[in-house]
Amino acid sequence: MRIAVLSDIHSNLVALDAVLASLGSVDTVWVLGDVVGYGPEPDAVVDRLVAIGAVAVTGNHDAAAVGAADVAWFNPDARAAIEWTRRRMTATTRAWLAELPPTLVEPPAALVHGSFREPLWEYITSGAEARASLRLLGDESLTLGLHGHTHLPVLWRLSGDELELIRVEDGSRIELDERLVLANPGSVGQPRDGDPRASYLVYDTDRAELVWHRVAYDVGATQAAMRRAGLPRWLVERLAVGR
Ligand code: ZN
Repeated sequence: MRIAVLSDIHSNLVALDAVLASLGSVDTVWVLGDVVGYGPEPDAVVDRLVAIGAVAVTGNHDAAAVGAADVAWFNPDARAAIEWTRRRMTATTRAWLAELPPTLVEPPAALVHGSFREPLWEYITSGAEARASLRLLGDESLTLGLHGHTHLPVLWRLSGDELELIRVEDGSRIELDERLVLANPGSVGQPRDGDPRASYLVYDTDRAELVWHRVAYDVGATQAAMRRAGLPRWLVERLAVGR
């Protein structure tokens, strides 16, 4: 099976459509949360994911948008976008978001937004955080943890007791074996690694490999929609610089 793994779409329909157009043939699409928040088109993004039969877990922005997480944890711009999303989204969108589980297991893989220790909120940015999630995966006899939340495409891999951090880019290919890995596809709708192009990965279960991809999209079109919606200026500007 070829599985597209997307994360942190953040209501950016133009970026999502560019990714879907670039995929070629895939058997399914997995989404690692933060479907909404920051961006201008929550309903259209959820409609698209429903139409393609995507399988998703919830993110902290999704939970906040449906009132299942406290907006006090967000910075003022993120909070303003959550409040805008709450006012704007349809009951259908809200119901779909509210049903998303915090984790999903598809052996040998597991899906989560933040980390396996703290599914919605923990950012895996250090070796200690990576090891904690890898240990939980290993306890369940799983070898591939797929997560988002940091908006940075990277791979952590445990070889014996040695932990490697591998920075990936467009075209990076990682072969999977018995070693435990945590893979982050990067963000579709708000990349933060200095490259404004949408980021995702394809998991090929037959070849046992992950391949990362970057796709340019019309950033200006999303920015124009955000300005029309009255979303915070920094959220508009950051898309152009990938920060
Ligand atoms: Zn996010």
